[in-house]
Amino acid sequence: MSNEELWQTVLAQIQFSVSRANFATWFGGTKITNSSNGEVTVAVPNLFAKEWLENKYQSLILKILRSLEPNIRTVEFIIKAPTPNVQKTEAFNRDEERALSLESQLQFPEFQVDQKTNLNPRYNFNNFIVGGFNELAHAASLAVSEKPGLVYNPLFIYGGVGLGKTHLLQATGSAILKAFPDKKIKYTSSERFISKIVDAIRNQEIEELKKRMGKIDVLIIDDVQFFAGKEKTQEEFFHIFNSLFQQQKQIILSSDRPPNAIPAIEERLRSRFEGGMIADISSPDLETRIAILQTKCQEKNTSFDEKVLEYIASNIQKNIREMEGALNRLLVFQKLNQKTPDLTTVRKLLHSLMTTAKKSTNPKKILEIVAAFYDLDPNDLMTQTRRKEIVKPRQIAMFLFRQELKESYPSIGRRFSGKDHTTAIYAYEKIARLIEEDPTLMTEINLIKQRLYVEI
Ligand code: ADP
Ligand code: MG
Repeated sequence: MSNEELWQTVLAQIQFSVSRANFATWFGGTKITNSSNGEVTVAVPNLFAKEWLENKYQSLILKILRSLEPNIRTVEFIIKAPTPNVQKTEAFNRDEERALSLESQLQFPEFQVDQKTNLNPRYNFNNFIVGGFNELAHAASLAVSEKPGLVYNPLFIYGGVGLGKTHLLQATGSAILKAFPDKKIKYTSSERFISKIVDAIRNQEIEELKKRMGKIDVLIIDDVQFFAGKEKTQEEFFHIFNSLFQQQKQIILSSDRPPNAIPAIEERLRSRFEGGMIADISSPDLETRIAILQTKCQEKNTSFDEKVLEYIASNIQKNIREMEGALNRLLVFQKLNQKTPDLTTVRKLLHSLMTTAKKSTNPKKILEIVAAFYDLDPNDLMTQTRRKEIVKPRQIAMFLFRQELKESYPSIGRRFSGKDHTTAIYAYEKIARLIEEDPTLMTEINLIKQRLYVEI
């Protein structure tokens, strides 16, 4: 494998195990510059990226490299600004390259964003498959794109990881831009929005920022569950929201859960979120998953046997991004071996991907993910407190230790500051019963479970 192919393969896998924002931020502009004697050197564009990759992603990268070439022992990162010449040669042969290069087939979409709107033309309504699972969200987005500010305001889309929220938000933004080229449209991740607010407050520029934002015609904020616990951001956003709303400017938001399940969010903001249209995206059924894979194949200019697509769609059920990751892996194989993998090869190629995802949960992860989901510190779960906002997450953690790790009740009890087994049994049974009665709790637990197996 050439260095380029090796790195593209690594990226193809990392792409679906980290969030979109992280992927774009930390992996854009990276490449392998050298790989010999079991040592791999990766060039990154700046010091930030170097430190992040070293601290957060080194072991994951090494693991993937080793799965591809077992003799690799170390990976190091060096800073190297991208050379301007390279871009020229790339532009020169663009058409030919587009047809040939693996990179363009894998299409890391994060790298093609328009700077002004943050919209990515690759996400549009044409390549968005509609089924029962996302029908309402799609119809509402379409309506908003035809009459921004006039039908549903705000439009609030929610659903689990990798099910098409970002795609839909981006498609709506792009459709508005096409129909109303003069409108000012801004798409932003909530992380980026939060850091803008924090910077503006620090530099005493918050009034200017609010003024600028007040001139936006369509404001799209992705993943607003991250506003949880960010009081300052919530306060400033509340004012921005009101100002836009009064001017009949369109606001579109997404979250991994409905507004009433976002913890630590001000009541007045929650009621704003609930004041327009709320539409959910659930999981696609098998036929729809196959249809999505077919669309992706077309986009990537490739095709696989129906049986192969069926195999992927039956084994990856809850996350469209993961399905795309699997497809990418097959694409790499196809490119390197100049032949299409048959079903037996596909099983082998995807085996590790499906089982590593399954195996990868552990006690630490359960505690961290449950705590993060409810905006708590993992240590909070271990305390004796009976505060309501902690009791429920603690019971959910106990429930998951039992259900996902099959731990014994006494050992679960011991983990939580020496409680006895009856507490653990009580927690398990209570949550198991509540899930049946309360759809919101069911959504929350499904989201948590999804993270246990998806994220690193
Ligand atoms: P989310 O923001 O909900 O985590 P994304 O919008 O990032 O999910 O979707 C993950 C991947 O799945 C993207 O590549 C997206 O294009 C694709 N995808 C999701 N839903 C659909 C759909 N209905 N039709 C086609 N592709 C989809
Ligand atoms: Mg998203």
